[in-house]
Amino acid sequence: MQFNVLTLPGDGIGIEVTREAVRVLEAVCRKFQHTVILKEALLGGIAIHKTGTPFPDETAKLAVEADATLMGAVGLPEFDNAPPEKRPEKGLLGIRKTLGVYANLRPVRTYRALMDSSPLKNHLIEGTDLIIVRELNGGIYYGTPRGIEGSGDEERGTNTMTYTRAEIARVCRMAFNLARQRRKKLTSVDKSNVLETSQLWRKVVVEVAAEFPDVTLDHLLVDNCAMQLVLNPKRFDVLVMENMFGDILSDEGAVLAGSIGMLPSASIGDRKPNGAWVGLYEPVHGSAPDIAGQNKANPLGAIGSVAAMLEYSFGLTTEAAAVNNAVEAVLNAGKVTADLKPAGTPLTTEQVGQAVCEAL
Ligand code: NAD
Repeated sequence: MQFNVLTLPGDGIGIEVTREAVRVLEAVCRKFQHTVILKEALLGGIAIHKTGTPFPDETAKLAVEADATLMGAVGLPEFDNAPPEKRPEKGLLGIRKTLGVYANLRPVRTYRALMDSSPLKNHLIEGTDLIIVRELNGGIYYGTPRGIEGSGDEERGTNTMTYTRAEIARVCRMAFNLARQRRKKLTSVDKSNVLETSQLWRKVVVEVAAEFPDVTLDHLLVDNCAMQLVLNPKRFDVLVMENMFGDILSDEGAVLAGSIGMLPSASIGDRKPNGAWVGLYEPVHGSAPDIAGQNKANPLGAIGSVAAMLEYSFGLTTEAAAVNNAVEAVLNAGKVTADLKPAGTPLTTEQVGQAVCEAL
């Protein structure tokens, strides 16, 4: 195959982990004789510095043209108090919206070699293998009216959580399809005891379930789900939820996996005319200003995102498995960064990337 991949390294450790993910992408393409044509563009704080906006038009154009986009992370502390339009994170919301990626898939699995890195007891997490499907294009992060107005005691902040039937149905359908390829169990997470958006969510997911009689559906309130994820993560196969619930709960997955640096993600939209899924791939973590520039960030979440790209955008399941197996081999050999608390000297970001390429 020949494919065009756009990289958006972004800020902080995004740049460091993307470099290693690209090395692994090139290595897997060499091994399986595919041709990858890479382009790079600006997103986030670096884009504000160079162009005045976190999401330049040129970046939007290149992302739409590419077969898939691999992103690092955005965010620089110097913009923490900037207005929303001038914040790096605006670029993130912009690219997700432009590509129309509405389902964010966050696989969480525990590796035997990392069990001691998790603060949870081994017997609780051993064998955990779940995917959180987070709605990515709607909900409170995009809803209007929004803003801060007034002054003094009357100064008021407003956000709006809103969902249409169509928005709920398409992401639930994707989650059902995923569950169908796995252990055929879907948990829908909501807050239907309080929120009308959640009541609609539950009604629609039950309707969509009729198309998937082979998949067992259950429902959990989001607060209970937060608890169950650490009490009994093995009970889950695929979970589906709205944008903000997914944002929050998927970070809990980091506790199961040992480090947030381990977690990949895939944001998927509709199929293109050639049958491939529109996809944006990125590690779950942020730009980690506390360790940026030190060559110690864990690149395995970004590398796992390459595996997800191969699988979902290009249908290359053997190649994806080769990357995941190489990651597992590196973990088993104890060749990991400091966040995973190795027994010996931790490796650098670059050394871990190199080790994955060698294992491939
Ligand atoms: P973060 O994920 O950047 O960092 C949280 C903690 O985890 C830090 O202690 C960090 O050192 C550690 N960590 C994160 N990734 C790691 C890795 N690969 N290896 C080792 N340790 C790792 O979250 P934060 O500190 O809340 O946010 C920092 C900035 O990133 C903010 O500007 C935020 O808005 C942004 N952010 C961006 C994204 C994204 O681009 N998708 C996601 C989350 C946060």
